[in-house]
Amino acid sequence: METLKGIPASPGIYIGKAFLYLEEKINITRYKVEPDRIKNELERLDKAFEDARNDLENLKVVNSGIMTSGESFLVDTHIMMLSDPDFRSKIDKYLKKYKVNAEAAVFTSIKEYIGELSLSSNTYAKERISDFRDIARRVLGKLTSRCLRNLTSLNEECVVVSRDILPSDAIVMDKTKVKGIVLEAGGRTSHTAIIARAFGIPAVLGVPDILQKANRDCTIIVDGYGGNVVIDPDKATIEAYIENIEKNHEIAQSLRRYIQKVAQTDDGRRVFIKANIEFPEEIENVEALGTDGVGLFRSEFLLMQNEYQKDEEKQFAVYKKLLERANGQSVTVRTLDIGGDKMLADHGDNSERNPLLGWRGIRYSLTEQDLFICQLRALYRASVYGSLKIMFPMIATMEELEEALKIAAQVRSSLMEEGYKINEDVPVGMMMEVPSAVLAADAFAEKVAFFSIGSNDLIQYTMAMDRGNERVAYLYQPFNPAILRLLKMVIDAGKKRDISVSVCGEIAADPLSAIVLLGMGIDELSMSSQSISVIKKVIRNVLYTEAKETVAEIMDMDNGTKIYNYLRTKYNDRFGIYL
Ligand code: PEP
Ligand code: MG
Repeated sequence: METLKGIPASPGIYIGKAFLYLEEKINITRYKVEPDRIKNELERLDKAFEDARNDLENLKVVNSGIMTSGESFLVDTHIMMLSDPDFRSKIDKYLKKYKVNAEAAVFTSIKEYIGELSLSSNTYAKERISDFRDIARRVLGKLTSRCLRNLTSLNEECVVVSRDILPSDAIVMDKTKVKGIVLEAGGRTSHTAIIARAFGIPAVLGVPDILQKANRDCTIIVDGYGGNVVIDPDKATIEAYIENIEKNHEIAQSLRRYIQKVAQTDDGRRVFIKANIEFPEEIENVEALGTDGVGLFRSEFLLMQNEYQKDEEKQFAVYKKLLERANGQSVTVRTLDIGGDKMLADHGDNSERNPLLGWRGIRYSLTEQDLFICQLRALYRASVYGSLKIMFPMIATMEELEEALKIAAQVRSSLMEEGYKINEDVPVGMMMEVPSAVLAADAFAEKVAFFSIGSNDLIQYTMAMDRGNERVAYLYQPFNPAILRLLKMVIDAGKKRDISVSVCGEIAADPLSAIVLLGMGIDELSMSSQSISVIKKVIRNVLYTEAKETVAEIMDMDNGTKIYNYLRTKYNDRFGIYL
């Protein structure tokens, strides 16, 4: 038995088998085949294609009712591609012409094909590149008899253990089977952590050497509360964790009674508690979870599915449904925040040296204006179906904000000229997540209807720490005096101009941060729906006056650790929850 320590990234405990997810490289050996063996190689190809298709059909059956529309579309597209005679004939022709083995024919002809697609001016064709790569992997896996399992098709419930998984892997992973995640990479606010929380999958990230220490199929405990990972636990440890699971279940049950209550202190300060959602399907639960609306819809997870990116009608249908399901409560949709660790399949050549400081968020939308306009058109068209708010991510300068607002105004005028009925008064706000914007918050407050603080990025950029890099995870310090001052600056600037200020970064879901934000006068907190009842309980069990006093006490302290310890000591026994 060995216990490793990591970063608790998504709460919950799971005990199960490890599935080591390695980005396997397939080495293809190329060899000549005698003319009389060509038929044999073609038959091997037939079988590999058929098996690959069957795997995908099975995936659909096993996940029926669970897959999102985007996921089933992806699987259907791959099945179609595997059945496409043109695609197959390219491989056959290559095999016959060069008289090589089936593996080499697949590998080289798909590589050539991808090369042609990447030079094409047809964007749809370009967008298929990642699909062809995926299919090539599948077919080669069959030909080489390698079980190239990926996270979309798992045989049994497991804990995924890996160096890292990209948000794009996480989107399509089989959520019925992935019951825990342990990664060497990552931090609390990495997007993989955010997705794990959205799906309620316990996760511990930043665990050193986990791939060397865990064996395939070994038993593993993922403790997403304490950040512990136990490999090959003994009986006593398993029993202790089972007891822990039961205790947490009881706490969760006791928190249920807060779900439908409002988050209001006894001395009358109301904080609106909203949900962050990454996938449109999550809206189904939102009403039941007693939220005051959706404070952040991270639209990039929708747009990372190729079919939606440039399709106004498809996006319109999703936004319309979101707004209708919200039953009159407001839904804040953040425009595409791509870049950093969230890439579109067609994101240039992906060779940025510092992607987190690079072509992200509004910077991307202002250069790729077709995408931006398409999204804004779909949003404004949907605006008549509910209470929409639009928010721009990663604004660093006034010029960016003004340009984005100008485009939004143009979109509104064009739609009206075209005869669409739209809500012209959709509140447009901005994320406060780049220090340059925060430091000029008073100026920005003149131009927007609301601020939403993206503390994940604000901490990343203020502390100069990559939020997905476990080595610098210690610099994720929400209570660092610099961060507290920036938070206060935004809230004060919002108050002065009488615009609402929300926090939609992960600190909104942290009880101690929520108290501090309450004391600073925050209007809204938006978080993963799982944290809503906890934060409601916290707000209902502190007084606004007391929270203000707490803020006054900590603002003069000179060190984040001291502040954190002070808060912990002050509130540790107050709420009956793990702080
Ligand atoms: C943030 O930066 O805090 C935020 C909410 O946006 P994201 O986590 O998607 O970058
Ligand atoms: Mg952000």
